[in-house]
Amino acid sequence: MYEHVSLHTVWQQGLVICLLCRRCRRRAVVPHETLGARDGNGKWVAKVRFVCSRCRARDFSVTVCRTDADVKRFFNEYRR
Ligand SMILES: [Zn+2]
Repeated sequence: MYEHVSLHTVWQQGLVICLLCRRCRRRAVVPHETLGARDGNGKWVAKVRFVCSRCRARDFSVTVCRTDADVKRFFNEYRR
């Protein structure tokens, strides 16, 4: 589960953090620089605060993707 993924792990394993805004349903990938994903950052992904650039909401569903196919699937759900 993403709750137990640290920013160090995101950096180390090249994970892709995908967000779904629960208010406006916007989907986005968060760049590692924005996350603070780097060597030695032990902060949990679940503790990172995000703000939706479209509606300013702070309520997100977080999906951790490991492969390009996972990311593609995440965005494909959007179009349905
Ligand atoms: Zn939003």
